[in-house]
Order: sequence, then C-alpha cells, then structure tokens
Amino acid sequence: MRFLRTLVGAAGGLGLTLLAADRPNVVFILADDLGYADVGFQGCRDIPTPQLDALAAAGVRFTSGYAGHPFCSPTRASFMTGRYQHRFGYENNIAFDPQNTLMGLPVAEKTVPERMQAAGYATGMVGKWHLGAAHLFHPNRRGFDFFHGFLGGGHDYFEVSALRPMGEGYQTPLDHNGKPREIDGYLTDDLTRAAAGFIRDHRGEPFFLYVAYNAPHTPMQAPQERLATFAGISDPKRRTYAAMVSVLDDGVGLLLRTLEELGLRERTLVCFLSDNGGPPTANGARNDPLRGGKGSVFEGGIRVPFVMSWPARLPAGTTFAHPVISHDLSATALAAAGIGADTLARLDGVDLLPHLLGHDSRPPHEALFWRMNGGDQWAVRSGDWKLLQAGPNLAPALYNLAGDLAETRDLAAEQPGRVDGLQARWKAWNQGNREAFFPGFSDYHKAKNAFYKTLVKPTE
Ligand code: CA
Repeated sequence: MRFLRTLVGAAGGLGLTLLAADRPNVVFILADDLGYADVGFQGCRDIPTPQLDALAAAGVRFTSGYAGHPFCSPTRASFMTGRYQHRFGYENNIAFDPQNTLMGLPVAEKTVPERMQAAGYATGMVGKWHLGAAHLFHPNRRGFDFFHGFLGGGHDYFEVSALRPMGEGYQTPLDHNGKPREIDGYLTDDLTRAAAGFIRDHRGEPFFLYVAYNAPHTPMQAPQERLATFAGISDPKRRTYAAMVSVLDDGVGLLLRTLEELGLRERTLVCFLSDNGGPPTANGARNDPLRGGKGSVFEGGIRVPFVMSWPARLPAGTTFAHPVISHDLSATALAAAGIGADTLARLDGVDLLPHLLGHDSRPPHEALFWRMNGGDQWAVRSGDWKLLQAGPNLAPALYNLAGDLAETRDLAAEQPGRVDGLQARWKAWNQGNREAFFPGFSDYHKAKNAFYKTLVKPTE
C-alpha cells in the first residue's frame, strides 16, 4: 500500500520536477475561537505559550493573516476546499443533525484531503469537523483515511456518561473512524495523542494531518491542576480560558516533538491559526488592539494568529506583512504536494511559497473578501485599505489599517472615490457567489421545532 501510494503519487500530477522525497508532510493545526492577542508570539502576557512561540520562531509569522469567515463552519469549508465558501453557498454555521443529508460540505466540492490522497498522501484528521453530520459528509468519506474526533460544532472536554442529548452534538461519543469511543481523560490531550499516533503510524510515507482542536471554544472546561497554575488570573472565565489554551500549547509541543523524534520535522510543513477571532464575552478571549470579535467583519472577527513553518524550505524567525487568508494554506499545501498548476488556478487560495521565498515580490492577493448573512455584513481589504459594512442598514466605512489598526477613524466621507472603487471590487467578487443553501443553526432548530409542533395532535 505504501509503495503503491508512492507510485501513484509520482505518476499523478507531479510532473517530472518534483520527486517524492521533496514533498513535505503537511500538518494543519487549527485552534477554535482563539483571540488575536492570546499567544505569546502575538504579545500575550498572562498565558505562556512556549510551544506555539517556538513554532512561530521556527518559521513565518503572518502579521495580516485572516480567517475565511468570522465564525467556525464556513472558515472550515474554505479551508477544506481552497475556495471561498460562498462560491458554493456555504455561509452559515451548520446545525448538528445526523439525519439531514442535504446540509453539509457539498460532495461535488473536491476537498484538500481528497486531492492529497490522489497525490499519494496518507490523510488523517483529528478533532472538530463541523462540515455536516450525516453519513455522506463524514470525514472518512471526504478524503480522510483516518478520523478521530466529532462531527458537530463543539464538544464537552470531559466524558459525560449520563444521558446524551443530541443538542449540537457536544455530548456525543467521540467518532473513531465511524465507531463510538469514550474520551480518554481531557479532550484536548485525547486529540493530541490521536494526532501523534497518526504521525507515528505514517512516518514512512508522505502524510497530511489536519488537527482541528476545539479549544478554547466553549464550554469553558479545563483540568483542575492546570487551572491551579493560573490562580493569579482573577476573572474565572479568563482563568479557565488560559488553562485551555495552555493545554493546547502543550499539545502542539507534543506534536512537534513527535516529528523531531522521528526525524521528520525538517520536511514537515506545519501551519497554525485560529478559525475566527476571539469572542471575549463567550470565552474570555482578547483581540487587542483590534476592534470587534467573532461574528464581526471588523479585524477582531477575522484577523488571527497565523504561522507557517517548514524548516527545509522557509527561513526561521521571519514575518510576512501582505494580507493572506486561511485557504491560502490549503493551496500552499497542495502545491507542495505537487498538485498541478491547472488545479490550483481553479482555487481562490494562493500558493504562498513563491511569495515567502522572494521569487514573487507581489502581494499574494490584490484584495481579500468576506461576506456574512447574505451580505448584511461584508468587507474587502486591498493593500492597507479596508472597506466594510458592519450591519444591514449601515453605510460602508473606510479604514486605513496602516495607521489605524483598531478601525477607529472612518475615512469614507473624505475619500468617496476610494469607497466606490472598493465597493465595486467587492460587488465584482460577489458576482461569483451563491446564496446560502442552508440556514444558520439557531434558525434551523427553530424551524425544526416549529415543524414538530405541527405534528402534535390536538388533545380534544
Ligand atoms: Ca470558531
């Protein structure tokens, strides 16, 4: 099987220029609802993150690194396809409903792991899927040889052995390649062990591993002993958040050590980012000095900690200032795996490597775009300029991020020509989008509950 993979990989789309030995392993590590200011390499002072800091120091830190969406599920849809999720109508947070076979990442969309499989990679995913809970959307059917995690938008961190209500799936058993499994200890540690196991199992062949931690997303649950080390943080929510981030940092450290021990670190492309900005009220995250948070198109909702490390190819200790977006990592991984330029050209993500190596001095994108709630909120960033509409009946606001990272001075009235230009650019991008094909999870559950009420027979 291993030999076959290598052969298939060598024949399929690699051309003659890229030998199998040059292809890196790829490890994507996604945090969930981690704030812009909540890791050491972003200036955090109250939560030590030595492992993530070491990862950033070993590679490139993107100072304008963006998530594809201000909240969870749509970002993952773009991350797993390399395309703007609006292209295929994926704009809302998906409800957890294993019976609904229409609501999930469309099967017509080819996923990054499917493409990596075809290129001869072993593919594994650990953690939060959140791209559909019905059988046809299962990660094992969407390109991952191995899956250990859960299908909903979040999960309890400790095993709950009592009644398991369906809800949003937070208390379902873990899913291990389609079979139920109890959480072993604390969930973040459980996920780390599964990810490290995958790396060990596939040490002898190229692999793609997607580690989607749900930390530090709610529910706010942390191991007691780790909470005790943050006794100096007086706010209990922030204290729990700090403990959750700290365990996540340990997990990243274990994955990096595993790669080192196996002699794989040099030739492994490791990326780390958050799926959206931090939600301070929900989990105690901080996005300083940015405005807004999760659910907003202000910088605090979309600009996230964002790192890429590939010691064999990329210099250590560098920063990259041009704006980049999460699905650029998808394209970069595919390009590194030898996926053909014709395929990459059909994606919205851009291979960042030529830009990082100085072979292409242009910015990776002329502009980046966001759209929420069918366009009630939207944003476009081009160079240092950003135009955004923060709500359904609000006029667009214009900010120059070079001197106003906190988006406090609206320059729209002073620069109407620039407003028109950016708005036209956003509209042109939006022409290629589709309307959402499923509602957000709260609307979905409301409609479902209303439907079931109509089925109750009157008593008289
Ligand atoms: Ca999230």
